[in-house]
Formats: sequence, structure tokens, C-alpha cells
Amino acid sequence: MTGPLHLGADIGGTKIEGVLVAADGTVLAHHRVPTPAREGRDAVLGALLTLLAELRGHAPAGLPVVGVGLGTHGVVSHHDGVVTLASGALPGWTGTPLRRAVEEELGLPVVVDNDVNVLAYAEMAFGAGQGHQDLLFVTVGTGVGGAVITDGRLLRGEHGSGGELGHAPVAAAAGLPCSCGAEGHLDAVASGTAIARAYTAAGGAELSTSQIARRAAEGDPRAQTALAVAGSALGEAVGGLVSVLDPALVVIGGGVASCGDHWWEPLRRGVRAAALPLLRDVPLRRPRLTRAAAARGAAALAARTLLPPSSRQAPATPRAPARPEAAESPGTAEAGAA
Ligand SMILES: [Zn+2]
Repeated sequence: MTGPLHLGADIGGTKIEGVLVAADGTVLAHHRVPTPAREGRDAVLGALLTLLAELRGHAPAGLPVVGVGLGTHGVVSHHDGVVTLASGALPGWTGTPLRRAVEEELGLPVVVDNDVNVLAYAEMAFGAGQGHQDLLFVTVGTGVGGAVITDGRLLRGEHGSGGELGHAPVAAAAGLPCSCGAEGHLDAVASGTAIARAYTAAGGAELSTSQIARRAAEGDPRAQTALAVAGSALGEAVGGLVSVLDPALVVIGGGVASCGDHWWEPLRRGVRAAALPLLRDVPLRRPRLTRAAAARGAAALAARTLLPPSSRQAPATPRAPARPEAAESPGTAEAGAA
């Protein structure tokens, strides 16, 4: 095991998880604490800083911690590490200057991204997408989220919402209200919330998606239809993106991805029907990482993209990116150890 070491953390509405990792990706320490979300921004920041300081204390003598990667709930401005939009899961989190707060406290360079992006990065670095640099990542739980990695780099977009697949328009969602306030978006027909709503609207009981999946497996046609409509709509959106991005594979996770063939088969058919014929056999894979995946992804992002502090002192030319990304090539700093 060699240095340098990196810290990674994932800040969610219910828990904050952190890791200390070696240069080869080995996890040297792993901690998890509840998020004091109801106590507000300062309490959440305090819990994060305490967690990071404790993890840093696990660094073996002579091996310095040189950078920090953070994944957080919400939309993040990648250039300055500010949370630009967070939901009610983290009250007051919108506007938090996360990068500056952690850099000032720890005296280390920090990179901040959203939680789905760092999960996608983890799957590329040492999960289902290992060895590839072009990956489409989709997560379907309560809502539909996504991330895009092209040529080894995360797509952030101008406002930090790049890769947000859930708000792509799909035909099956026509007229349905979306969580964002618009209508006709994928999230309104393919999310776990939408599946449960469709099942109830068809006369079924109020059930979780895993219960609906069980009913579908037992032959309940309403459950089968709810899953098929959702899977097919996701396939349409994913197939369209596959045509645009030409990823090596699509990694599809989240609770709904455990709903079985009544969801997966319409999804596969939807992708095949929507994608450019040349690309219709793109592999659809489940995520391979479970334990501390987002925190590990954040640490890997830091290891591969943060510049040494010395090079960050150079005067920036006007309009230059606040944080140019150098050496973002997979397979150099992290080798995929668990
Ligand atoms: Zn929407």
C-alpha cells in the first residue's frame, strides 16, 4: 500500500458516509453517521467535518491525506462546489458553500459533485464499468436519476444538472405532472412513486414497488402492467440517450431495478426499439458496488482530478475554469480493490 491518501464522503438526507482510501483504491477506514438534517445546515456541516477529521486520523504514519472528494444530495455547481439546489430532505442545504467550508477546515483541496455522479464514477472506477470510459448511469428509486461519463469525464453541464435523465420527455408520460413542476417527463411515469401511483390508479392497493414486483411475479396483471409501462418508458429514454452518447454500457441501479423481468424485459425492448440500430445491443448492467460506493466514488474523483495545491496557486486567466481537470484517466490512481 502506498500513498497519497484521499478522503471521500457521501452526504445524504439520512446518513453521511465516509472513507479513507489508499492510492490503489483500498479502503483503509469507513464510517457512517446519521445526518442531522432537521437541525439545519451548520449541524450537517459539523457532522461532516467531524467524520472527515476522524477518518483522517486513521491515516498511517508517513502517508499524507492530500485531497477530499464529496458527493452530496442536490444539484452542485462543480466549479465552486456550492450546492445550488437541494430538496426538503436536507432543509437549508441550498446555497451551502461546501467546497470552501471543507477546504478551510481541513486545509486540503476538495472536489464536490452530486451523489449520483459520484456513484457513477465509482462504477466506472471499480464497478460494473471498470475498464470503460463511456458510461450511462441510471438509478431508479423514488425518483429517476442519472449521470453521464464520456471519455472518463463526468458531464456536469452549465448548471450542474447534466445527466439528469429523469426530466427527459417520453411519450408515455404525456400529460402526467412531474416532480419538477413540468409535465410529460420520464420521472412522472418511470419512478418508483409513479409505479405505485399507477398500480393504485388501476384499482390496486397502496403497495411499495417491491410488493408490486412480488404481485407481478404471482400473476397480478395490474402489477405487471404498471411495471411494463414504467420499464418501457425508461427504455425509450435510455435508448435515445444511447443513440446520442454511444456508451460502452448502461448501468441501471436503484430499488426499482430489483423488480424482476416484468420490468427488465420491457426496458430491454424499449432500449432496442429506441436506439440507433448499430447500438441496440448496448449492454445493460446492474451496479456491482454496494458498500460505501458513493463515498468511494467521491474519493476516486478527488484522486483523479484534483491538482496538487502548488499548481492551484497559479494566477487564473479570465474565464478559465476554476478547476481544470487534469489526468482524469481511469486505471492510473485507482485499481479497484475493495
Ligand atoms: Zn420533470
